[in-house]
This record gives sequence, C-alpha cells and structure tokens, in this order.
Amino acid sequence: MHYYQPLLLTPGPTPVPDEIMSQIQLPMVGHRSSDFETIAENAYSGLKPIFGAQNDVLILTSSGTSVLEASMLNIANLEDHIVIIVSGAFGNRFKQIAETYYKNVHIYDVTWGESVDINSFLDYLKSLNVKVTAIFTQFCETSTGVLHPIHELGQTIKSYDSDIYFVVDGVSCIGAVDVDLVKDHIDVLVSGSQKAIMLPPGLAFVAYNNRAKSRFNEVTTPRFYLDLNKYVDASTKHSTPFTPNVSLFRGVNAYVDLVKHEGLNHVIQRHYMIRDALRVALKALDLKLLVKDDVASPTVTAFIPNSKDELALIKNQLKSRFNITIAGGQGHLKGEILRIGHMGKVSPFDILSVVSALELILTEYRNANYIGKGVTKFMEVIQHES
Ligand SMILES: *Cc1c(COP(=O)(O)O)cnc(C)c1O
Repeated sequence: MHYYQPLLLTPGPTPVPDEIMSQIQLPMVGHRSSDFETIAENAYSGLKPIFGAQNDVLILTSSGTSVLEASMLNIANLEDHIVIIVSGAFGNRFKQIAETYYKNVHIYDVTWGESVDINSFLDYLKSLNVKVTAIFTQFCETSTGVLHPIHELGQTIKSYDSDIYFVVDGVSCIGAVDVDLVKDHIDVLVSGSQKAIMLPPGLAFVAYNNRAKSRFNEVTTPRFYLDLNKYVDASTKHSTPFTPNVSLFRGVNAYVDLVKHEGLNHVIQRHYMIRDALRVALKALDLKLLVKDDVASPTVTAFIPNSKDELALIKNQLKSRFNITIAGGQGHLKGEILRIGHMGKVSPFDILSVVSALELILTEYRNANYIGKGVTKFMEVIQHES
C-alpha cells in the first residue's frame, strides 16, 4: 500500500543495517560452546573503543533500564548518599530506581530542555553537607535532546571529591559521541543496543574502570541477575553468567565491523553533521527548537510545532502519507514537542526525506510556501561539513 519505504526515526529502536541482520540470522550455537566463546570475546573487546573503555565492555541480555539499575545496585550501598541529576524522563527513571532501593537520595533537577549548569551543580553538591558516594546522570537526555557536558561534569565532580563514583547513562548517544572513561572521569558508563548502536532491542552494556570493578565487589546491596561481578568474572572467560542473546552478540560484532569500516571519528562526525543540518532546516520551516544549539545532542532533535493541532497533523501525516515514524514528547512535554531520532543507520539523505515531507505538510497546513526552504538550508550544511 505504501509507495514510500518505511523510515524509522524514533530515538530507539532505530533501523538495523542488513550487515547486522544477516549475522543475527545465522544458525544458533550453544552458549557454552567454543563457537560462542569466540563471539563473546570479540564482542566484549570490540566495544571498548566505542565506550572509550580500557576494560572489556560487559553485555547483559536485557533492556537499557537493567543497566541503569545495575549501575546503582553495584556502586551504592543501601545507606549511602547518592545524587541523581534529573533533566527529563530518563533522569526520572534513574530517580525511580533510586527511590525503590535507597533512602538517602538527593535529586538535582534541571529544567527539561536545558543542560546541567556546572557551577550551580557544584554549589548544590557543597550545600548537601553529606559525604556523597555516587552521582548519576544522563549523557543525552533522550526526552529533550540535550547532550550534557559530561567531560566538564566529570572533572568538576572529581576535583570536588575524587572518591565520588560518576555514573553516566549513555543509552541514547554511545556510538555517536566522543567519550573516554579516563579523560571524562567516568567510573561507569552504560548503554543499550537499540539506539546509536543500531541493533535490535535486547542487549545492555556496562563499561567500567578498575576502581568501579573493585567497588562492585565491596558493595553489599542485594542483587542477583544484576550482580555485575558475575558478568565481570564471566567476561574474563569469554562467557556469560546466564543464557545470552547469542544472535545479538553476533550482531555486536557485525556492528563493530561496520564502525571500523567507516571509522569511529567519521561515524561521530556524521551524527553531528546531520544534527546541524536538521536544526537549520527546522528553523527555516518556522519550527522552534527545544534545545539550544550548543547543548543539542547529535542523536535526537526535539522541535515545537506552532499549535497542538499542527503537532498532531505533522506526526500523523508523516506516518500516513510518507511512512515516516517520529516520536512525540514524554512526561509534561507530551503533546508539546515532536522528536526526530537520527542515530545509528542514518544518512543525511534519510533526514532530507523528513525535511521535504515537513515542507509539503506545512505548505498545505499553514497555507504558506515552504517548498525547498528547509532542504536548501539542510544541503548547505551537508556541503560545508561533509
Ligand atoms: C532508551 C533509554 C533508556 C532505557 O532503555 P530501555 O531499553 O527502554 O530499558 C535509558 N536511558 C536513556 C537515556 C534512554 O534513551
């Protein structure tokens, strides 16, 4: 029925490249076989450059939220004081996990759509007057499209108190941003498979430094499936503590190969170029952007249509006329914003499609001529940045 190819532009799940799908479809092997050991060994070590990690990256068979929870349960004891930065729906999720287990939870609220202000956060930390064990933050807050200044945050936290563990939720940006556990002072960095890592949903990743590894061992908080010590031990034997998603482990290796082939720097640059091009195009279509340019994520862009009717029309017509799926808002931004995911298997021309579809929709709806307006601005950025 559709003339247009489906284009999935949600901030997860994201389209999966054929090179990955063909690996995922290979015949099953036993997870206690040497075949699987080879697959696992390659997957754990192959992810290291993507996460900027010195140690092998742990892989759990579960969704991203599982490693948000694991990062907390393996870093903080139940009586510890922990700080959660909440800048949107995923910060809220960290908060909900914290409040499920912990009593001494301190919430640092950031206005949705803004990034953490380093000096205000430092003042907040000082004002707590307690020994803080760990700080948890989003890297990209997917519900708004903000990319927090993780490097400055890490530096500030560690110079305030080098004992503090810095834990970062990178689910919606790892694979599209430059990150380094050492340089950015991160102790634990978690992610999931279905966003910029362009795999189907179902795997979760944990990168950690040696300090965090020792901490996993000391912490007494009850946990079983999410006990990261089990995953660390198994990873040294190129194995897993429980039955893994064997197919998706193969997918990880296909993903790593694709990144090697393109070059990680190019992958990152491609995401930033698409971000920049999309932002100027949306502005040219008189669509307001939720997030300021300097803190905009390279993986997801939120915009504000002129009215609720316009918002609903854009989302519906993109789908019904052009087979393009984008996302709405979450929490109090539901019905206020729309979000375009542009991560993983995404080319500038994929995003050009959504820009041209928006031109047609808005030209009709607003009774003004937008044809070519966004596309021209978009292509000017591609011309200069590619
Ligand atoms: C998607 C996402 C998660 C949660 O992932 P699930 O796979 O749905 O559990 C957590 N944090 C961020 C920032 C995300 O974008």
